[in-house]
Amino acid sequence: MTTFRAAQVTSPRGELALVDRTLADPAPGTVRVAVEACGICHSDAIFIDGQWPGLQFPLTPGHEIAGRIDALGEGVQGWREGERVAIGASGGYCEHCRSCRRGELVHCEAGMVTGATFPGGYAEYVMAPANALARIPDELSAVDAAPLACAGLTMFNSLRRTGAGPGDLVAILGIGGLGHLGVQFAVKMGFRTVAIARGPEKSHLARELGAHHCIDSLASDVASELQDLGGARVIAATATNAEAITAAIGGLGPHGELLTLAGVLDPVQVSPVQLINIAGTVRGHSTGSPSDIEDTLNFAVLQGIRPMAEALPLEKAADGYQRMLANQARFRVVLTTADTDR
Ligand SMILES: [Zn+2]
Ligand SMILES: [Zn+2]
Repeated sequence: MTTFRAAQVTSPRGELALVDRTLADPAPGTVRVAVEACGICHSDAIFIDGQWPGLQFPLTPGHEIAGRIDALGEGVQGWREGERVAIGASGGYCEHCRSCRRGELVHCEAGMVTGATFPGGYAEYVMAPANALARIPDELSAVDAAPLACAGLTMFNSLRRTGAGPGDLVAILGIGGLGHLGVQFAVKMGFRTVAIARGPEKSHLARELGAHHCIDSLASDVASELQDLGGARVIAATATNAEAITAAIGGLGPHGELLTLAGVLDPVQVSPVQLINIAGTVRGHSTGSPSDIEDTLNFAVLQGIRPMAEALPLEKAADGYQRMLANQARFRVVLTTADTDR
């Protein structure tokens, strides 16, 4: 009997600990993936804390996965063993609900989420529906591909769906796991990019990532600084702080869009007048489909975008998770396994 290692929590808000699991054959329609890297995403806390409907414990989180197909289940077509694949948060599709039939896979009514519906990537192996897989281009290492499959995807896929065009002012609020990729994608997508960061250290890093302007939110009034720059066409809120998001809304310009990306449970305040005067909108954005992941990875290769990642071995999952929670990661902790090809 072969076993593999996985990190799990046995109850909501529990401590991550390594366990051995039996390696099984993949079920029909699924594949077994040997995990090479898995990013630690702030959204993992929603699952570890038990704040998602229908969760079952013990729970293995992790939805920023890069690895290789290790075995194919019955009936899987279009994939072969050994292929390099990424799996993001959106963990497969029923293919027959109304959303799937409309091609809106992310909104599938079956609501399959990697690391929630089935055990995630804080492990040496995952079993995933074949329709959750995205191909990884050769140019990307596993450690680089993993964060791009969730954090990178969220930034690229949301920004490309806004009304912002080349040269428009786009603000990335919060320079962390999402935001440090957001700055790079916004710059390479042709936006005049302003990074809104807490403190001089993060402002300095945002400049290195290519931001054209930086606003230190601890030292200045974010809304008036954005207005001095002409008003933002988009504020992409990656900060997990509802007050910081509320404070930035006054910086939107005509037709400005507040894009909420970080999983924040606290309410953000906006008055109707703030939106009426600028014909502004507030909207959320949720992840993307496997083909959106492929678009993200390919754009990252084309434009030289890479995450700043701290690789830690799987056995340090609990430490890595705490680094993320304490906002100490610069900027993404990525768990690696013995299979990681660096
Ligand atoms: Zn995520
Ligand atoms: Zn569906």
